[in-house]
Amino acid sequence: MNRLSVFNPADGSLIEQLPMDDAARVAERVAAAQRAQPLWSARPLTERKQVIARFRQSVQERLAQLAQVLTRETGKPLAHSRNELNGFLGRIDFFLAHADQALAGEQVFDADGMREQIERLPLGVIGNISAWNYPWFVGGNVFVPGLLMGNAVVYKPSEYAAMTGLEMARLLHGAGVPDDVFVALIGTGPTGGALLEQPLDGMFFTGSVATGQRIAQAMAPRMVKLQLELGGKDPTYVCPDADPVAAAQSLADGAMYNAGQSCCSVERLYVHEAIYDRFIEALVGTVRSFKMGDPMADDTYLGPLTRAPQIDVLQAQVADAQARGGRLLLGGARAPGPFGGKGNWFEATVIDRADRSMMLMRDESFGPIVGVQKVTGDAQAIALMNDTRYGLTAGVYTPDEQRARRIGSEVRAGSLYWNCCDRVSPRLPWSGWGESGLGLTLSVEGISTFTRPKAWHLRKN
Ligand code: NAD
Repeated sequence: MNRLSVFNPADGSLIEQLPMDDAARVAERVAAAQRAQPLWSARPLTERKQVIARFRQSVQERLAQLAQVLTRETGKPLAHSRNELNGFLGRIDFFLAHADQALAGEQVFDADGMREQIERLPLGVIGNISAWNYPWFVGGNVFVPGLLMGNAVVYKPSEYAAMTGLEMARLLHGAGVPDDVFVALIGTGPTGGALLEQPLDGMFFTGSVATGQRIAQAMAPRMVKLQLELGGKDPTYVCPDADPVAAAQSLADGAMYNAGQSCCSVERLYVHEAIYDRFIEALVGTVRSFKMGDPMADDTYLGPLTRAPQIDVLQAQVADAQARGGRLLLGGARAPGPFGGKGNWFEATVIDRADRSMMLMRDESFGPIVGVQKVTGDAQAIALMNDTRYGLTAGVYTPDEQRARRIGSEVRAGSLYWNCCDRVSPRLPWSGWGESGLGLTLSVEGISTFTRPKAWHLRKN
């Protein structure tokens, strides 16, 4: 049996070798899920909610250990791993509180002997191919509501978060989800590819645009629900009336948190000329203060990159920006890191005098790097924010809510932030416009997305 080698991105050491699921094993597991799903969906919702509540309890009890597993395999600073797990508990609470509403049927007409009713049913067996950057969030956005709505979930965690995927399975099974109702498949792209070959009733993907497009092509002839949560190149505009220091401090965190490896991290900054210099000074000062170090240390803010190949992407973006007139204000190179040159370390990087000709302002960076461009007014900022094939989130910093709403309503993005950034709420739909994706998770709509409606037309004889 082939094995997946799991490396610690902080120091390059081998942590674990996990048995991988080949195509035959994937087919076996999906067939078992198909047999198990009807019994799961036949159980009353209250029972499924009890199971998920027990799962929540065990995540909470083991939070410290789960954070360590996540940090070891992704390099995410321990404090950020704990934040993710605590945030995940809040998301479970939301799903539990709104599951009844999302699954509720409805009578929409009753007159002249005719009744019309909507029933909501699970999709069946759904596939979930997931990313590594926030595995509890992006995996949990699918498997928690998916299971609550009565589906079986076949989950393919990223190869960079496979140990966390196995922890999820262990805790879900321990809480009472039958083994064949939640299945974790271990492997890389080919394991995901084998899952796409199976007779699934839905496919929910989180990852890059390139893989998302491949998945969309593979699933197109199947006529089942497909959701894609993909990348971004998220912009923020800092207006002339904004407090430049407060905005810079907030946006530095939005750009560098989790080493910039967030789908909604701030990657493009458009700053009004009236406050530009003060903003840049505060931005560079704040980013410089972020402590790089061993991700297992409590006070580390900047850890390594999870994937080694991303270092080349960042280096290419820096070189391209500099060649096109960008000014490197901070960082810009591979860092030795705290383990004597081992691991995937990159300096926190700020480049200004950026413009749309640069890869830095067009392509997702997914690292601790941000580009800044000076603008002269709202109209220019709006045009630049919309100058992208993505559309996940966008932000505006100004004390004037009317101004923020006016600008925000012209920006094409699934989420709009006013004086905040890099934020996800379980109460609001999470969706990408343009190449950032298809469909949505979170909010009540993001729970009922794991159901299909049946329309009943009922006439008494
Ligand atoms: P990726 O596309 O490299 O991998 C995602 C998953 O797809 C992994 O599990 C991988 O094994 C699998 N995969 C790879 N090739 C496959 C194939 N041919 N067939 C089937 N499965 C295949 O992405 P990644 O590096 O894990 O994640 C980073 C990306 O995810 C970034 O672009 C980020 O913006 C995006 N992301 C988006 C959101 C969102 O909510 N929109 C959230 C988190 C991450």
